[in-house]
Amino acid sequence: MLRGIFGALIRYARDNISVKLRPRVNHGALFVRKIFIMKIHEYQGKEILRQFGVPTPRGVACFSVDEAVAAAKQLGGSVWVVKAQIHAGGRGKGGGVKVAKSPEQVREYANQILGMQLVTHQTGPEGQKVRRLLIEEGAQIVKEYYIGMVVDRGTQRVALMASSEGGMDIEEVAAHTPEKIHKVWIDPVKGLTDAESDDVARKIGIPEVALAEARACLQGLYRAFVEKDAMLAEINPLVLTGDNHVRALDAKFNFDSNALYRRPEIVEYRDLDEEDPAEVEASKFDLSYISLDGDIGCLVNGAGLAMATMDIIKLYGGNPANFLDVGGGASKEKVTEAFKLMLKNPKLKAILVNIFGGIMRCDVIAEGVVAAAREVHLSVPLVVRLEGTNVELGKKILAESGLPIISGNDMADAAQKVVAAAKGK
Ligand code: GDP
Ligand code: MN
Repeated sequence: MLRGIFGALIRYARDNISVKLRPRVNHGALFVRKIFIMKIHEYQGKEILRQFGVPTPRGVACFSVDEAVAAAKQLGGSVWVVKAQIHAGGRGKGGGVKVAKSPEQVREYANQILGMQLVTHQTGPEGQKVRRLLIEEGAQIVKEYYIGMVVDRGTQRVALMASSEGGMDIEEVAAHTPEKIHKVWIDPVKGLTDAESDDVARKIGIPEVALAEARACLQGLYRAFVEKDAMLAEINPLVLTGDNHVRALDAKFNFDSNALYRRPEIVEYRDLDEEDPAEVEASKFDLSYISLDGDIGCLVNGAGLAMATMDIIKLYGGNPANFLDVGGGASKEKVTEAFKLMLKNPKLKAILVNIFGGIMRCDVIAEGVVAAAREVHLSVPLVVRLEGTNVELGKKILAESGLPIISGNDMADAAQKVVAAAKGK
Protein backbone atom coordinates (compact mmCIF):
# COMPACT_ATOMS: atom_id res chain seq x y z
CA MET A 1 0.00 0.00 0.00
CA LEU A 2 2.64 2.46 1.10
CA ARG A 3 4.82 1.46 -1.78
CA GLY A 4 1.96 2.13 -4.12
CA ILE A 5 1.46 5.61 -2.78
CA PHE A 6 5.16 6.27 -2.88
CA GLY A 7 5.44 5.09 -6.45
CA ALA A 8 2.44 7.07 -7.54
CA LEU A 9 3.67 10.19 -5.81
CA ILE A 10 7.10 9.93 -7.28
CA ARG A 11 5.60 9.47 -10.71
CA TYR A 12 3.25 12.36 -10.04
CA ALA A 13 6.08 14.50 -8.79
CA ARG A 14 8.22 13.58 -11.73
CA ASP A 15 5.40 14.49 -14.06
CA ASN A 16 4.82 17.76 -12.34
CA ILE A 17 8.29 18.85 -11.50
CA SER A 18 8.66 21.02 -14.49
CA VAL A 19 8.17 18.33 -17.09
CA LYS A 20 5.86 19.74 -19.70
CA LEU A 21 2.97 17.52 -20.68
CA ARG A 22 4.52 15.31 -23.27
CA PRO A 23 1.80 13.43 -25.09
CA ARG A 24 2.88 9.83 -25.15
CA VAL A 25 0.80 6.70 -24.99
CA ASN A 26 -2.26 7.82 -23.14
CA HIS A 27 -2.63 10.89 -25.23
CA GLY A 28 -6.00 11.94 -23.95
CA ALA A 29 -5.80 11.85 -20.19
CA LEU A 30 -2.82 14.17 -20.00
CA PHE A 31 -4.73 17.13 -21.32
CA VAL A 32 -7.26 17.29 -18.58
CA ARG A 33 -4.60 18.60 -16.28
CA LYS A 34 -3.62 21.35 -18.63
CA ILE A 35 -7.18 22.61 -18.86
CA PHE A 36 -7.42 22.85 -15.11
CA ILE A 37 -4.27 24.79 -14.35
CA MET A 38 -3.40 28.45 -14.41
CA LYS A 39 0.23 29.53 -14.38
CA ILE A 40 1.83 32.78 -13.25
CA HIS A 41 5.24 34.43 -13.51
CA GLU A 42 8.05 34.03 -11.01
CA TYR A 43 7.85 37.67 -9.82
CA GLN A 44 4.13 37.21 -9.16
CA GLY A 45 4.81 34.00 -7.27
CA LYS A 46 7.33 35.87 -5.15
CA GLU A 47 4.75 38.56 -4.38
CA ILE A 48 2.54 35.79 -3.00
CA LEU A 49 5.40 34.21 -1.06
CA ARG A 50 6.21 37.55 0.60
CA GLN A 51 2.59 37.89 1.74
CA PHE A 52 3.06 34.61 3.58
CA GLY A 53 6.33 35.55 5.19
CA VAL A 54 8.71 33.66 2.89
CA PRO A 55 11.98 35.61 2.55
CA THR A 56 12.83 36.43 -1.07
CA PRO A 57 15.42 38.73 -2.64
CA ARG A 58 14.19 42.25 -3.43
CA GLY A 59 13.30 42.65 -7.06
CA VAL A 60 11.44 44.71 -9.65
CA ALA A 61 9.46 43.50 -12.67
CA CYS A 62 10.39 45.38 -15.86
CA PHE A 63 9.06 45.67 -19.39
CA SER A 64 11.96 47.56 -21.02
CA VAL A 65 15.74 47.78 -20.92
CA ASP A 66 15.67 51.30 -19.45
CA GLU A 67 13.33 50.15 -16.73
CA ALA A 68 15.72 47.30 -15.97
CA VAL A 69 18.70 49.62 -15.55
CA ALA A 70 16.66 52.02 -13.40
CA ALA A 71 15.50 49.08 -11.28
CA ALA A 72 19.10 47.94 -10.69
CA LYS A 73 20.10 51.46 -9.56
CA GLN A 74 17.05 51.67 -7.32
CA LEU A 75 17.81 48.29 -5.73
CA GLY A 76 21.42 49.30 -5.13
CA GLY A 77 24.23 46.90 -4.30
CA SER A 78 26.84 45.56 -6.71
CA VAL A 79 25.36 42.32 -8.10
CA TRP A 80 22.04 41.90 -9.85
CA VAL A 81 20.28 39.01 -11.53
CA VAL A 82 18.47 39.59 -14.81
CA LYS A 83 15.73 36.98 -15.16
CA ALA A 84 13.44 36.25 -18.10
CA GLN A 85 9.82 35.96 -17.04
CA ILE A 86 7.99 33.29 -19.02
CA HIS A 87 5.57 30.58 -17.95
CA ALA A 88 8.17 27.85 -18.24
CA GLY A 89 11.05 26.57 -16.19
CA GLY A 90 14.55 25.73 -17.27
CA ARG A 91 15.27 29.38 -18.00
CA GLY A 92 18.71 29.22 -16.42
CA LYS A 93 19.94 26.54 -18.82
CA GLY A 94 18.28 28.28 -21.75
CA GLY A 95 20.20 31.54 -21.16
CA GLY A 96 17.32 33.39 -19.55
CA VAL A 97 19.00 34.03 -16.17
CA LYS A 98 22.18 36.14 -16.00
CA VAL A 99 24.20 37.56 -13.12
CA ALA A 100 25.31 41.16 -13.75
CA LYS A 101 28.13 42.95 -11.92
CA SER A 102 27.38 46.51 -13.03
CA PRO A 103 24.43 48.58 -14.26
CA GLU A 104 26.04 48.47 -17.73
CA GLN A 105 25.98 44.71 -17.60
CA VAL A 106 22.35 44.81 -16.47
CA ARG A 107 21.68 46.85 -19.63
CA GLU A 108 23.61 44.38 -21.79
CA TYR A 109 21.82 41.31 -20.43
CA ALA A 110 18.40 42.98 -20.40
CA ASN A 111 19.00 43.86 -24.05
CA GLN A 112 19.95 40.27 -24.81
CA ILE A 113 17.09 38.60 -22.97
CA LEU A 114 14.17 40.95 -23.55
CA GLY A 115 12.51 40.03 -26.82
CA MET A 116 14.50 36.83 -27.25
CA GLN A 117 12.79 33.60 -28.19
CA LEU A 118 13.77 31.64 -25.08
CA VAL A 119 13.99 27.90 -25.65
CA THR A 120 13.92 25.62 -22.60
CA HIS A 121 13.06 21.96 -22.11
CA GLN A 122 9.56 23.12 -21.22
CA THR A 123 8.82 25.52 -24.08
CA GLY A 124 9.23 23.16 -27.02
CA PRO A 125 11.64 23.92 -29.87
CA GLU A 126 9.79 27.09 -30.92
CA GLY A 127 10.51 28.72 -27.55
CA GLN A 128 8.64 31.52 -25.85
CA LYS A 129 9.12 35.24 -26.47
CA VAL A 130 10.39 37.14 -23.42
CA ARG A 131 8.33 40.25 -22.75
CA ARG A 132 9.01 40.80 -19.05
CA LEU A 133 12.11 40.73 -16.87
CA LEU A 134 12.70 40.46 -13.17
CA ILE A 135 15.68 42.45 -11.89
CA GLU A 136 16.75 41.21 -8.47
CA GLU A 137 19.48 41.91 -6.00
CA GLY A 138 22.08 39.16 -6.30
CA ALA A 139 22.35 36.50 -3.63
CA GLN A 140 25.56 34.82 -2.58
CA ILE A 141 24.64 31.16 -2.86
CA VAL A 142 26.31 28.59 -0.60
CA LYS A 143 23.86 25.74 -1.20
CA GLU A 144 20.75 25.16 -3.35
CA TYR A 145 17.78 23.14 -2.05
CA TYR A 146 14.48 22.13 -3.55
CA ILE A 147 11.09 22.42 -1.87
CA GLY A 148 7.78 21.78 -3.58
CA MET A 149 4.19 20.85 -2.87
CA VAL A 150 1.49 19.05 -4.85
CA VAL A 151 -1.97 17.77 -4.09
CA ASP A 152 -1.66 14.02 -3.63
CA ARG A 153 -4.99 12.53 -4.63
CA GLY A 154 -4.17 9.13 -3.15
CA THR A 155 -3.79 10.38 0.42
CA GLN A 156 -6.03 13.43 -0.10
CA ARG A 157 -3.32 15.59 1.39
CA VAL A 158 -0.84 18.16 0.30
CA ALA A 159 2.49 16.41 -0.14
CA LEU A 160 5.64 18.35 0.65
CA MET A 161 8.76 17.28 -1.19
CA ALA A 162 12.17 18.54 -0.22
CA SER A 163 15.65 17.77 -1.43
CA SER A 164 19.22 18.73 -0.78
CA GLU A 165 19.77 18.54 -4.53
CA GLY A 166 18.06 21.75 -5.58
CA GLY A 167 18.89 23.86 -8.59
CA MET A 168 18.54 23.18 -12.23
CA ASP A 169 18.57 19.37 -12.32
CA ILE A 170 15.76 18.35 -9.99
CA GLU A 171 14.14 16.29 -12.76
CA GLU A 172 17.27 14.15 -12.88
CA VAL A 173 17.16 13.72 -9.10
CA ALA A 174 13.51 12.64 -9.20
CA ALA A 175 14.19 10.20 -12.01
CA HIS A 176 17.45 8.60 -10.85
CA THR A 177 17.81 9.15 -7.10
CA PRO A 178 14.25 9.48 -5.77
CA GLU A 179 15.53 8.59 -2.27
CA LYS A 180 17.04 12.06 -2.16
CA ILE A 181 13.56 13.54 -2.18
CA HIS A 182 12.02 13.63 1.31
CA LYS A 183 8.26 13.73 1.67
CA VAL A 184 5.74 14.82 4.24
CA TRP A 185 2.00 14.31 3.82
CA ILE A 186 0.59 17.30 5.62
CA ASP A 187 -2.33 16.88 8.01
CA PRO A 188 -4.98 19.35 6.81
CA VAL A 189 -6.13 20.06 10.38
CA LYS A 190 -2.73 20.59 12.00
CA GLY A 191 -1.01 22.06 9.00
CA LEU A 192 2.76 21.72 8.66
CA THR A 193 3.99 21.57 12.26
CA ASP A 194 7.22 23.09 13.56
CA ALA A 195 8.52 19.59 14.32
CA GLU A 196 7.79 18.30 10.80
CA SER A 197 9.27 21.41 9.27
CA ASP A 198 12.49 21.21 11.29
CA ASP A 199 12.77 17.49 10.66
CA VAL A 200 12.58 17.83 6.90
CA ALA A 201 14.86 20.88 6.95
CA ARG A 202 17.50 18.85 8.81
CA LYS A 203 17.11 15.96 6.42
CA ILE A 204 17.97 18.14 3.47
CA GLY A 205 20.95 19.58 5.31
CA ILE A 206 19.87 23.04 6.37
CA PRO A 207 22.17 24.12 9.23
CA GLU A 208 20.75 24.63 12.73
CA VAL A 209 21.22 28.41 12.66
CA ALA A 210 18.94 28.65 9.64
CA LEU A 211 16.15 26.33 10.81
CA ALA A 212 13.84 29.15 11.87
CA GLU A 213 14.06 30.78 8.46
CA ALA A 214 13.59 27.44 6.74
CA ARG A 215 10.45 27.00 8.82
CA ALA A 216 9.18 30.37 7.61
CA CYS A 217 9.74 29.16 4.06
CA LEU A 218 8.14 25.74 4.44
CA GLN A 219 5.16 26.86 6.49
CA GLY A 220 4.69 30.02 4.44
CA LEU A 221 4.71 27.99 1.24
CA TYR A 222 2.15 25.60 2.69
CA ARG A 223 -0.17 28.42 3.80
CA ALA A 224 0.14 30.12 0.42
CA PHE A 225 -0.58 26.79 -1.27
CA VAL A 226 -3.77 26.22 0.71
CA GLU A 227 -5.06 29.77 0.94
CA LYS A 228 -4.57 30.48 -2.76
CA ASP A 229 -5.87 27.13 -4.04
CA ALA A 230 -2.64 26.06 -5.68
CA MET A 231 -2.22 22.65 -7.30
CA LEU A 232 1.54 22.84 -7.38
CA ALA A 233 4.07 25.16 -5.79
CA GLU A 234 7.84 24.98 -6.04
CA ILE A 235 10.78 26.94 -4.73
CA ASN A 236 13.75 25.77 -6.72
CA PRO A 237 16.25 26.77 -5.66
CA LEU A 238 15.70 27.63 -2.04
CA VAL A 239 19.17 28.80 -1.06
CA LEU A 240 21.42 29.21 1.89
CA THR A 241 23.40 32.44 1.61
CA GLY A 242 26.91 33.22 2.81
CA ASP A 243 25.52 34.88 5.93
CA ASN A 244 23.33 31.84 6.77
CA HIS A 245 20.03 33.21 5.55
CA VAL A 246 17.50 31.13 3.66
CA ARG A 247 15.90 32.73 0.59
CA ALA A 248 13.46 31.69 -2.13
CA LEU A 249 15.34 32.39 -5.37
CA ASP A 250 12.66 31.05 -7.67
CA ALA A 251 8.89 30.62 -7.34
CA LYS A 252 6.52 28.53 -9.36
CA PHE A 253 2.79 28.21 -8.78
CA ASN A 254 0.06 26.39 -10.68
CA PHE A 255 -3.47 27.18 -9.58
CA ASP A 256 -6.60 25.12 -9.79
CA SER A 257 -8.69 27.03 -12.31
CA ASN A 258 -11.87 25.59 -10.82
CA ALA A 259 -11.15 27.73 -7.75
CA LEU A 260 -10.39 30.94 -9.61
CA TYR A 261 -13.93 32.25 -9.12
CA ARG A 262 -12.98 32.89 -5.50
CA ARG A 263 -9.43 34.09 -6.20
CA PRO A 264 -9.82 37.30 -8.23
CA GLU A 265 -6.35 38.37 -7.12
CA ILE A 266 -4.89 35.33 -8.86
CA VAL A 267 -6.93 35.93 -12.03
CA GLU A 268 -5.34 39.43 -12.07
CA TYR A 269 -2.01 37.70 -12.65
CA ARG A 270 -3.14 36.11 -15.90
CA ASP A 271 -0.82 36.94 -18.81
CA LEU A 272 -2.54 36.28 -22.13
CA ASP A 273 0.77 36.68 -24.00
CA GLU A 274 1.85 33.40 -22.43
CA GLU A 275 -1.22 31.53 -23.60
CA ASP A 276 -2.01 30.00 -26.95
CA PRO A 277 -4.11 32.54 -28.97
CA ALA A 278 -6.46 29.79 -30.17
CA GLU A 279 -7.04 28.69 -26.58
CA VAL A 280 -7.74 32.27 -25.46
CA GLU A 281 -10.21 32.69 -28.36
CA ALA A 282 -11.88 29.39 -27.48
CA SER A 283 -12.36 30.38 -23.86
CA LYS A 284 -14.42 33.38 -25.02
CA PHE A 285 -16.95 30.94 -26.46
CA ASP A 286 -16.79 28.63 -23.48
CA LEU A 287 -15.12 25.90 -25.53
CA SER A 288 -12.49 23.69 -23.91
CA TYR A 289 -9.78 23.82 -26.55
CA ILE A 290 -6.14 22.79 -26.41
CA SER A 291 -3.81 23.17 -29.39
CA LEU A 292 -1.73 20.13 -30.26
CA ASP A 293 0.82 19.56 -32.96
CA GLY A 294 -0.95 17.04 -35.19
CA ASP A 295 -3.09 17.63 -38.29
CA ILE A 296 -6.50 16.10 -37.49
CA GLY A 297 -9.01 18.50 -35.96
CA CYS A 298 -11.36 16.96 -33.39
CA LEU A 299 -14.77 18.31 -32.45
CA VAL A 300 -16.34 16.27 -29.70
CA ASN A 301 -18.95 16.66 -26.97
CA GLY A 302 -17.75 15.72 -23.53
CA ALA A 303 -14.18 15.70 -22.21
CA GLY A 304 -14.10 11.93 -21.75
CA LEU A 305 -15.17 11.25 -25.31
CA ALA A 306 -12.75 13.92 -26.53
CA MET A 307 -9.86 12.13 -24.80
CA ALA A 308 -10.96 8.76 -26.13
CA THR A 309 -11.19 10.29 -29.61
CA MET A 310 -7.62 11.55 -29.48
CA ASP A 311 -6.45 8.16 -28.26
CA ILE A 312 -8.17 6.28 -31.07
CA ILE A 313 -6.80 8.68 -33.70
CA LYS A 314 -3.32 7.92 -32.36
CA LEU A 315 -4.10 4.22 -32.30
CA TYR A 316 -4.78 4.29 -36.05
CA GLY A 317 -1.60 6.21 -36.77
CA GLY A 318 -2.91 9.77 -36.92
CA ASN A 319 -2.15 12.85 -34.85
CA PRO A 320 -4.75 15.13 -33.32
CA ALA A 321 -4.43 18.86 -34.05
CA ASN A 322 -6.40 19.76 -30.97
CA PHE A 323 -8.45 18.70 -28.03
CA LEU A 324 -11.91 20.27 -28.28
CA ASP A 325 -14.89 19.69 -26.07
CA VAL A 326 -17.90 21.70 -27.23
CA GLY A 327 -19.79 20.73 -24.10
CA GLY A 328 -23.12 19.05 -23.58
CA GLY A 329 -25.45 21.67 -24.99
CA ALA A 330 -23.54 22.98 -27.98
CA SER A 331 -25.52 25.41 -30.12
CA LYS A 332 -25.10 25.93 -33.85
CA GLU A 333 -23.14 29.10 -33.05
CA LYS A 334 -20.74 27.26 -30.77
CA VAL A 335 -20.16 24.54 -33.36
CA THR A 336 -19.49 27.22 -36.00
CA GLU A 337 -16.94 28.96 -33.75
CA ALA A 338 -15.32 25.62 -33.10
CA PHE A 339 -14.94 25.00 -36.85
CA LYS A 340 -13.47 28.47 -37.36
CA LEU A 341 -10.92 27.84 -34.64
CA MET A 342 -9.80 24.52 -36.07
CA LEU A 343 -9.57 25.94 -39.60
CA LYS A 344 -7.22 28.74 -38.47
CA ASN A 345 -4.57 26.07 -37.99
CA PRO A 346 -2.45 25.95 -41.18
CA LYS A 347 -1.43 22.36 -40.45
CA LEU A 348 -5.01 21.07 -40.47
CA LYS A 349 -5.58 18.23 -43.00
CA ALA A 350 -8.93 16.72 -41.90
CA ILE A 351 -11.62 17.07 -39.24
CA LEU A 352 -13.36 14.42 -37.18
CA VAL A 353 -16.67 15.27 -35.54
CA ASN A 354 -17.50 12.67 -32.91
CA ILE A 355 -20.79 13.20 -31.11
CA PHE A 356 -22.66 11.07 -28.66
CA GLY A 357 -26.19 12.43 -28.50
CA GLY A 358 -27.56 12.02 -25.03
CA ILE A 359 -29.20 15.21 -23.93
CA MET A 360 -27.90 16.70 -27.16
CA ARG A 361 -29.90 15.37 -30.11
CA CYS A 362 -28.04 14.14 -33.18
CA ASP A 363 -30.35 16.03 -35.55
CA VAL A 364 -29.54 19.31 -33.80
CA ILE A 365 -25.81 18.71 -34.00
CA ALA A 366 -26.11 17.60 -37.65
CA GLU A 367 -27.86 20.85 -38.49
CA GLY A 368 -25.12 22.72 -36.63
CA VAL A 369 -22.38 20.88 -38.52
CA VAL A 370 -24.03 21.51 -41.90
CA ALA A 371 -24.62 25.19 -41.17
CA ALA A 372 -21.08 25.64 -39.86
CA ALA A 373 -19.53 23.78 -42.80
CA ARG A 374 -21.39 26.07 -45.23
CA GLU A 375 -20.52 29.23 -43.36
CA VAL A 376 -16.80 28.56 -43.04
CA HIS A 377 -16.29 27.11 -46.54
CA LEU A 378 -14.79 23.90 -45.36
CA SER A 379 -11.47 23.28 -47.09
CA VAL A 380 -10.53 19.86 -45.65
CA PRO A 381 -12.27 16.46 -45.57
CA LEU A 382 -14.84 16.12 -42.79
CA VAL A 383 -15.65 12.80 -41.14
CA VAL A 384 -18.70 12.67 -38.87
CA ARG A 385 -19.65 9.96 -36.45
CA LEU A 386 -22.99 10.32 -34.70
CA GLU A 387 -24.54 8.03 -32.12
CA GLY A 388 -27.44 8.31 -29.74
CA THR A 389 -30.73 10.18 -29.68
CA ASN A 390 -32.23 10.80 -33.15
CA VAL A 391 -29.16 9.36 -34.88
CA GLU A 392 -31.07 8.31 -38.02
CA LEU A 393 -32.49 11.78 -38.50
CA GLY A 394 -29.05 13.25 -37.93
CA LYS A 395 -27.46 11.01 -40.56
CA LYS A 396 -30.24 11.89 -43.00
CA ILE A 397 -29.60 15.61 -42.55
CA LEU A 398 -25.89 15.09 -43.26
CA ALA A 399 -26.57 12.88 -46.29
CA GLU A 400 -29.05 15.33 -47.79
CA SER A 401 -26.88 18.40 -47.20
CA GLY A 402 -24.97 17.86 -50.43
CA LEU A 403 -21.74 18.53 -48.53
CA PRO A 404 -18.85 16.09 -49.04
CA ILE A 405 -19.19 14.67 -45.55
CA ILE A 406 -17.73 11.21 -44.89
CA SER A 407 -19.90 9.24 -42.53
CA GLY A 408 -18.31 7.03 -39.87
CA ASN A 409 -20.29 4.05 -38.59
CA ASP A 410 -18.56 3.84 -35.23
CA MET A 411 -15.52 5.33 -33.53
CA ALA A 412 -13.02 2.89 -35.02
CA ASP A 413 -14.43 3.32 -38.51
CA ALA A 414 -14.51 7.12 -38.20
CA ALA A 415 -10.96 7.24 -36.82
CA GLN A 416 -9.61 5.08 -39.65
CA LYS A 417 -11.43 7.18 -42.24
CA VAL A 418 -10.16 10.49 -40.86
CA VAL A 419 -6.57 9.20 -40.60
CA ALA A 420 -6.77 8.06 -44.25
CA ALA A 421 -8.29 11.40 -45.29
CA ALA A 422 -5.52 13.34 -43.52
CA LYS A 423 -2.95 11.27 -45.37
CA GLY A 424 -4.70 12.14 -48.63
CA LYS A 425 -5.93 8.61 -49.34
P1 GDP B 1 14.87 28.31 -13.82
O1 GDP B 1 16.08 27.79 -14.50
O2 GDP B 1 13.80 28.70 -14.80
O3 GDP B 1 14.34 27.39 -12.78
O4 GDP B 1 15.30 29.69 -13.10
P2 GDP B 1 15.87 29.97 -11.62
O5 GDP B 1 15.20 31.17 -11.11
O6 GDP B 1 15.78 28.76 -10.77
O7 GDP B 1 17.38 30.35 -11.89
C1 GDP B 1 18.31 29.41 -12.40
C2 GDP B 1 19.61 29.44 -11.63
O8 GDP B 1 20.17 30.73 -11.65
C3 GDP B 1 19.45 29.10 -10.15
O9 GDP B 1 19.44 27.72 -9.91
C4 GDP B 1 20.68 29.76 -9.58
O10 GDP B 1 21.78 28.87 -9.64
C5 GDP B 1 20.94 30.94 -10.50
N1 GDP B 1 20.55 32.16 -9.81
C6 GDP B 1 19.29 32.66 -9.66
N2 GDP B 1 19.32 33.77 -8.90
C7 GDP B 1 20.62 33.96 -8.53
C8 GDP B 1 21.32 34.93 -7.71
O11 GDP B 1 20.75 35.84 -7.13
N3 GDP B 1 22.66 34.79 -7.61
C9 GDP B 1 23.34 33.81 -8.22
N4 GDP B 1 24.65 33.74 -8.09
N5 GDP B 1 22.73 32.88 -8.98
C10 GDP B 1 21.40 32.95 -9.13
MN1 MN C 1 14.19 27.28 -10.79
